[in-house]
Amino acid sequence: MKIVFATNNPNKLAEIRQLMPKVIEILSLKDINCLEELPETSDTLEDNAAQKAFYVFDNYGHNCFADDTGLEIDVLDGRPGVYSARYAGPECKAEDNIQKILGEMKGEMNRDASFRTIISLVIDGKEFQFAGEIEGQIILEKWGEKGFGYDPIFLADGHEKSFAQMSIEEKGAISHRGQAVKKLIQFLEKRVK
Ligand code: IMP
Repeated sequence: MKIVFATNNPNKLAEIRQLMPKVIEILSLKDINCLEELPETSDTLEDNAAQKAFYVFDNYGHNCFADDTGLEIDVLDGRPGVYSARYAGPECKAEDNIQKILGEMKGEMNRDASFRTIISLVIDGKEFQFAGEIEGQIILEKWGEKGFGYDPIFLADGHEKSFAQMSIEEKGAISHRGQAVKKLIQFLEKRVK
């Protein structure tokens, strides 16, 4: 089975390819020659994920899944949430987002946060959603060089390494996206049998 993962993020592609069984071949947007930015204009993770997956299905005719992820911080009333990608501004980098969060949380004792992922799968025009969530803490400074996005400042509950100190396998075994992908794989495996 071939299925498109609607992302331009090479880290997400690597994470998901590492988790997928060999019978499910993951194509990237580049592989199908989809080079434009995908629409992501809604204010919920659920709707954004669906918007991206349907865009690829409707315009390119491929079965497809897309994910949308948000970092939700308790004392910031759930921000950055659905706005995690451009929290520090339209052209910002991951480092800008991290510095903005660390600044906003300076002196704050409650550092509870969670990552939440929604995967929207569109097969033959029908949509299915899968969710994953992990709770943890925003640490006081960056730990580690691996991963991407907010990984260096997120410490999952019960763990001693930040996401940016974990291997791709360690992160995938517990992460928000890893959990959602496992549900997606179970669903897809039933269809390939
Ligand atoms: P999106 O799902 O690609 O829209 O991601 C939203 C924002 O969350 C981006 O800034 C990503 O870098 C960040 N993000 C998504 N997944 C992760 C993750 O697994 N770890 C750290 N940051 C992430």
